[in-house]
Amino acid sequence: MGEERLEVLLSTEEIAAGVKRLGEAIARDYDGQNPLFVGVLKGAVVFLADLIRAVPIPVRYDFIAVSSYGAATRSSGQVKILKDLDYSLEDEAVILVEDIVDTGLTLNYLLASFRARRPRSLRVCTLLDKPSRRLVELKPDYNAFVIPDHFVVGYGLDYAEKYRNLPYIAVLKKACDG
Ligand code: 5GP
Repeated sequence: MGEERLEVLLSTEEIAAGVKRLGEAIARDYDGQNPLFVGVLKGAVVFLADLIRAVPIPVRYDFIAVSSYGAATRSSGQVKILKDLDYSLEDEAVILVEDIVDTGLTLNYLLASFRARRPRSLRVCTLLDKPSRRLVELKPDYNAFVIPDHFVVGYGLDYAEKYRNLPYIAVLKKACDG
């Protein structure tokens, strides 16, 4: 087992500035619309909690839990919904909130599932975007940071359920990575 090492990629202050920018943009675009934020469990919890407090208009929020795909389901992009929403999305201004878009398969699946529920509008807000690994065409409507192809942890993102509570985002390095 290699020793784990963390290298800070985004500091607490940088994240806060990014979240503030997103919150202001969303508040401008959704004034008077009472948008419904949908967070994808568990990674988006920390981001969503900060994001809604950076949006100075009335909002509501809900959560959905999905299984991550194994090797067999990756190519098909199939994702299983483990906990569905409390809200029906019909005629709602929905903002789907993710911690990170990597291959895009999870969001692609969720967007198709949500579109079928007939929302008034549907947009994606992510904290991090790793476009170099994308397998489907997908560009978040709101994104705070584009990052290179590293495995990152902290601010809700985990490695085997560890590091979610770090107040910054770090690249996880194994001793064997050098
Ligand atoms: P996608 O379906 O876009 O490939 O991946 C989405 C999910 O994979 C994210 O919500 C996250 O849970 C996980 N993921 C992708 N990249 C990373 C990463 O760098 N670090 C961590 N901790 N999770 C990641």
